[in-house]
Amino acid sequence: MVFEQADVVIIRFGEISLKSNKVRNRMINRLSKNINAALKNIGVECTVYNKWSRIIIEEFEETKNIVDAVSILPGVVSLSPCKVVEPKIETISRGLVEIGLENFEGNTFGVDARRVGEKDTHNFSSRDICEEAGSVLLDNLGENVEVDLNHPDQWFYVECRKEKAFLYLKKYPGPGGLPVGAEGKILALISGGHDSPVAAYKMMCRGCEVVPLYFSMGDYSGIDLDIRAFKTIQKLKKFAPNFDWDVRVAEIGETVEKLMEDLNNTRMVVLRRFMFKIAEKLAEKEGARGIVTGESLGQKSSQTLGNLDVVSRATKIPVHRPLLSFDKPDIIEIARGIGTFSGSKIEAGCTEIAPNRPEVYGDLEKIKDVEPDYIDGEVEKTVDKIYRKEL
Ligand code: ATP
Ligand code: MG
Repeated sequence: MVFEQADVVIIRFGEISLKSNKVRNRMINRLSKNINAALKNIGVECTVYNKWSRIIIEEFEETKNIVDAVSILPGVVSLSPCKVVEPKIETISRGLVEIGLENFEGNTFGVDARRVGEKDTHNFSSRDICEEAGSVLLDNLGENVEVDLNHPDQWFYVECRKEKAFLYLKKYPGPGGLPVGAEGKILALISGGHDSPVAAYKMMCRGCEVVPLYFSMGDYSGIDLDIRAFKTIQKLKKFAPNFDWDVRVAEIGETVEKLMEDLNNTRMVVLRRFMFKIAEKLAEKEGARGIVTGESLGQKSSQTLGNLDVVSRATKIPVHRPLLSFDKPDIIEIARGIGTFSGSKIEAGCTEIAPNRPEVYGDLEKIKDVEPDYIDGEVEKTVDKIYRKEL
């Protein structure tokens, strides 16, 4: 039930409010811009501004689209469509009855009121609001309706400020964290499997702007995997529609073919070092301050502690692995939640190339010994040919 009589939508942010004034203002402005852009993206006309440690949206026609588009944005802790009334007990009570008559469906209710401001701002307390509005609601919501202050079917919320009182029925939760763009750019290696989009999303929720990089492995990935990766990346766009989502495509099919011929049990680790070397160079070009992958400790032979060590040493740029300690079911749950999970059986990532008995111990010297001399040349060649694909 989205409450259609709402005059405004208020947006709450958590962690941002703990920052110093300067940082807080910067982040609130960033979040407002992202909200504005997300609403523009779905064609909603409205006004967005900051006040009372909240972001307020007003002058709109329909509430549901706003709730759907804004409640998924990183940085948003929760939001509530509200009716706005004068900050007096009578107007608050009347407003709640109006909302109740349209929306109340249960048998029990409670009033949860918060009066904000100095003691003498209003001549009543939060408790006065609860008691008075509660009794007016009881008289108006119909027979057999009772007050339950523990587990009511419906809470009626009141946030009473000096100039206005906000009345609402629900807090829609957002992902929290920081707004995208607050922390700068990160290069995300996204293969279209379940893990890498979740890893990129997690970094977005800590304020990172994601630059997506996909390695197309020619015959080893095939058109199906390419398309699947592009579709997955496209699904991340709604969390930050005002950023550059062109996928950077690196064609590595020919190098993969050479590695398949030249190496056996070490080829996966060498291939992953190759990917990281390319990512490092692209990150420099793009002004990204790190790379992010969907690796999770022990999930695959290439993700043992030893192999992660050997692979990480291929680059100097920080490699972030937000899913390192996540179990697969938890990753899948997030993937479902953000819409990147697909039941498809196509294997993504490097599965096709994995040897039968892969190297799992991660001996750096041994890998350096077998790493073909042509690798660095292949890195240069590949980076030069990286292209953008618009999604
Ligand atoms: P995914 O994370 O997409 O589910 P995966 O679990 O199959 O991939 P690997 O194939 O071992 O794992 O890859 C580990 C990480 O390397 C991925 O999470 C991703 O960040 C990156 N990666 C692997 N293959 C590619 C690719 N083709 N393009 C971009 N990044 C890739
Ligand atoms: Mg994985």
